[in-house]
Formats: sequence, structure tokens, C-alpha cells
Amino acid sequence: MIPIPAPASQILFTPGPLTTSPLTRQAMTHDWGSRDAAFISLTAELRQRLLAVAHGEATHVAVPLQGSGTFIVEATLGTLVPPPGRGKLLVLANGAYGERMLAIAERQGRPAVALRWPEDRPVEAAPVAEALRADPAITHVAVVHCETTTGLLNPLEPVAAVVKEAGRALLVDAMSSFGALPLDLRTLPAAAVMASSNKCLEGVPGIGYALIAREALAAAEGNSPSLALDLAAQARGYEKNGQWRFTPPVQVVAALVQALRLLEAEGGPAARLARYRANCDALMAGMRRLGFEPYLAEEVQAPIIATFRAPPGFDFARFYRALSERGFVIYPGKLSQAETFRIGCIGALVPADFTRLLATIAAIGGTAA
Ligand SMILES: *Cc1c(COP(=O)(O)O)cnc(C)c1O
Repeated sequence: MIPIPAPASQILFTPGPLTTSPLTRQAMTHDWGSRDAAFISLTAELRQRLLAVAHGEATHVAVPLQGSGTFIVEATLGTLVPPPGRGKLLVLANGAYGERMLAIAERQGRPAVALRWPEDRPVEAAPVAEALRADPAITHVAVVHCETTTGLLNPLEPVAAVVKEAGRALLVDAMSSFGALPLDLRTLPAAAVMASSNKCLEGVPGIGYALIAREALAAAEGNSPSLALDLAAQARGYEKNGQWRFTPPVQVVAALVQALRLLEAEGGPAARLARYRANCDALMAGMRRLGFEPYLAEEVQAPIIATFRAPPGFDFARFYRALSERGFVIYPGKLSQAETFRIGCIGALVPADFTRLLATIAAIGGTAA
């Protein structure tokens, strides 16, 4: 047998896959029969815990699905936005993930329009209200909670309020915020919230999930242009026999349930947010001391991932390699306009990890020339 070489011990300062707890990784050492009672019960715990994170037990249904975050976004848009003639999507875009939702809707043949803001500005509620007044055909509005492109926090509540006022349905890409930033379905009027296993829940990659309002799900039968990504059908399956329709990533499910138990043990989303905020504060202060300029203004920066401008003459590839060789994995930029790189604040990390990262950045020198 040729063993798979273990990667050199590295910690990930990335938005997912990210650094996980050893307890979460240990949960993956069993084989599970996907139709067995033990796994059905694990799936039930997963769905219950996902709802509990956002207080959606009374109003929403948790629908986990195989795949990365984009798969659940594609599944949710396809399931909830009806075909032409009955459905039209308005996407609020200030980064790559808003643009991706627009691309998905267009690929699905759903009428879709966008309202755009610069990548360093939050979306605003007033133009949304105006757009909904001007176009009665719009049935759904999609917004990204934390735009991971930059790390910017979009104002969910004001947007949700105008969408509700206009009688339309709100779809929230909460991929990089779910489990840390406040999101309470008892008060937030959202038809669906989408997220994945490998971000603030600190699970391993392989599962996306949507929390879908019961009435939105009931109205969505037959909408989906996809067989495998039909969340109404998958929700019916969970109701009927507690099972995934198609082969589930059983070890990933086990790891995610373990990660959700660890979230509860940590003190829930508020405690996790406090840890991420401490991480982010340590990072921002240290990077400023080293002369790096944050891309975002402080008031719109979420404590999830931070974008820094590349200094003049900066060689990201060399910088990345130098850090990686010393055990620290960071993340490239994703901006259309500016030369940047990113450092994640999420994952099983504490401020001391950032102190070590910053000392290493100081040692190799900002431009790593
Ligand atoms: C990570 C992420 C996604 C999904 O990306 P995948 O690479 O498919 O997991 C979608 N939206 C946001 C805001 C994200 O951060």
C-alpha cells in the first residue's frame, strides 16, 4: 500500500476549507450505512441543529444537500424562483458571490436583474425598495450577507424590511456568516438562508444546506429545472423517511454534527463571533503595524475575512510560498479592480495563532523580495 503523504503541518487562514478541530476530523473515522437507523438519526440531529443555530424551528425546514456552497445556491434559486412568467429574481451585487447568483439564475433561464454597488460599499435598502416599486414582476430578492470577496458585511435587516414591505421573498447567501454573525429567523423575514459545512460552522467541505420557510417550500413543488438539485423533492424525502435521496457524504455529515456540537459547547454563535472578532482585531492591528493597508473601511469590515492592498512591488506568489513553507496558508484576492490578498479570521483559530502568523510575516518582510 502506498500511503497518501500527509501534508506538512499547516494552519489555514482561509475562508474554507479552513482549520478544523481535531475532534471534528476524528468524527470521520467510521463507515456509516446511509439507509441505517444510526445514520438516519444523525441526519435528524444535523437538520435540527442547523435550524437551532438560526432559531428557525417554528418557521423553516433544514434541507442539507451534497456539494460545495455553490451547489446549494444553485439548488435554492432553482427550487424557489419559479420559471419565466411566474418568477423573476433581483440580485443585489457588490462582489463575486452576488454576481454568481445572477449567473446561476441566467443559466437556469430565470428572468433576473441586478442592482450593483462598488465592491467596497454595502448594498442599500432604498434603491431596492425603488426597484421593487418599479418592477412588479420581481418575485424574489437575493443578497449576500458577508461578501467573502472582500469581507464586507451587508445590512441584512433593512434590506429584509423593504423586501417584506413590498411583499416579495428574500433569499440570503449566508455562506460565510452562518453560525457566527447574528441571524435570527424569528425576526428576519427570509424565505431561505443558504450556507455550507466548511465556513463558520468549522466542518469539513462537502455539504451545503438551506433553511427554507415552510410556505415557500410548499409553493416550490415542480419549480426546479434540476433533478438532483431539487430541494422541494429532497425536503419531501427527509419528511418521508429521514433519508438523503442520493448517496450522502456520510463522514462529512458526522463531522458536521460534531462541529455543531462544538459550536454549542463554545457558547453558540455569539461566543464564536467574539472569538472571530478577537482574531480579526489581532490581525488588523498587526497588519497595520507592519504597514499593510486594509481594503475596506473599518465600519463595513466583518470579522470573517480581511482584504489587504498589495504594497507597491508586492509579489504575492513569493509571499504566499514563504508563508506556506513556514506552515501558514493564506488566500489570494478576488477583486476585479484592485491588487489584493486575503487572510481569513474564521476556523478553529485563536488570537495566538494570528500573533504567530504576524511574527512570521514580519520575519519574511512585507514584499518578501
Ligand atoms: C464560500 C461562498 C460560497 C460558495 O462557494 P463554494 O466554493 O461553492 O463553497 C458562496 N457564497 C459566499 C458568500 C461564500 O463565501
